[in-house]
Amino acid sequence: MEISQSTTLVRDLRSRTQKRADAAADTRPRVTLSFYRYVHISNPEAFRARLLAKWRGLECLGRIYVAFEGINAQMNVPKEHWEAFDAWVQDQPELTGIPYKSAVQEGDAPAFFKLMIKVKDKIVADGLDDSSFDVTNTGDYLTAAQMNEYINDPDAVVVDMRNNYESEVGHFENAITPDVVTFRDELKKTPELLKIHKNKKIALYCTGGIRCEKASAWLKHNGYQDVRHLKGGIIDYAHQVKAQGLANKFKGKNFVFDERLGERVGEEVISTCHLCKTNPSDTHYHCKNQICHTLFLGCDSCVEKKAGYCAWHCAKVDTLPAGTKKVLARYYNLYIKKRQPFQKRRLQG
Ligand SMILES: [Zn+2]
Ligand SMILES: [Zn+2]
Repeated sequence: MEISQSTTLVRDLRSRTQKRADAAADTRPRVTLSFYRYVHISNPEAFRARLLAKWRGLECLGRIYVAFEGINAQMNVPKEHWEAFDAWVQDQPELTGIPYKSAVQEGDAPAFFKLMIKVKDKIVADGLDDSSFDVTNTGDYLTAAQMNEYINDPDAVVVDMRNNYESEVGHFENAITPDVVTFRDELKKTPELLKIHKNKKIALYCTGGIRCEKASAWLKHNGYQDVRHLKGGIIDYAHQVKAQGLANKFKGKNFVFDERLGERVGEEVISTCHLCKTNPSDTHYHCKNQICHTLFLGCDSCVEKKAGYCAWHCAKVDTLPAGTKKVLARYYNLYIKKRQPFQKRRLQG
């Protein structure tokens, strides 16, 4: 088990470089989108096989989770295949009428390097026992205009249901941003955290809305009466603000779980470089040392000075012979990685 973990890492490293090169070489315009649906899927393995066969043929890339409880997808599609993709998706009984959320900002670099469809226990890791409460008793939706009213309403509280590294670079004005690194922890802490606001109206939000479906039902189960959530999350909020000419109350960047790592919604930079702890920065990088791969915020000057590594020792490690790195990777996976919760970007949205 220990050895296979490290060999998997090493094999992934090689193929990641290759896949990155292949994706970068493909410069066709693509549509980046996300969608989710809680819907009963009777045979997730067979559903996965069906998606994989079709989407491979259409040269789609992305990360998709499938479970008995539904689907959660973040992906992109070559523009030339968009119509075929859309027609096929809408033709699947599980997906008919599913609303897409298109990216607020397409990046210059590819958002995904491969197509990965996984069968999971749940489409978002929430740590909840779904049989212990009514998961269908979700809160009502809020539009962008209603969200803006909530933000200015002294009788309302707005709660960010995302992790600290997401809200660090962008969040709604006056929002409560819990200091957590997983959605599991967020759900554990929020009922307690909101106790002082029990009689207020509560508005939840996340990236694309999926986390709030579960979170709103969870808070209602915990005795909160008036819980609503932002429909389509920050992504749809940004589109509505633009289309309807509303005031933008979201400050900074919307963190996303693909290679773009973020899309700009508000013009301001609200966070600081993790390396110098001085200069403003909301640009995320992964440490160039593939064993570390830690996510950090870097200003231009620090990224240049440290050559893309999060620390000097990571630059040193990268100069070691491949065999030594293999041993270090094994040690890192076993003893250190577990304590770095946001180094692996789980699909959320
Ligand atoms: Zn810096
Ligand atoms: Zn590093």
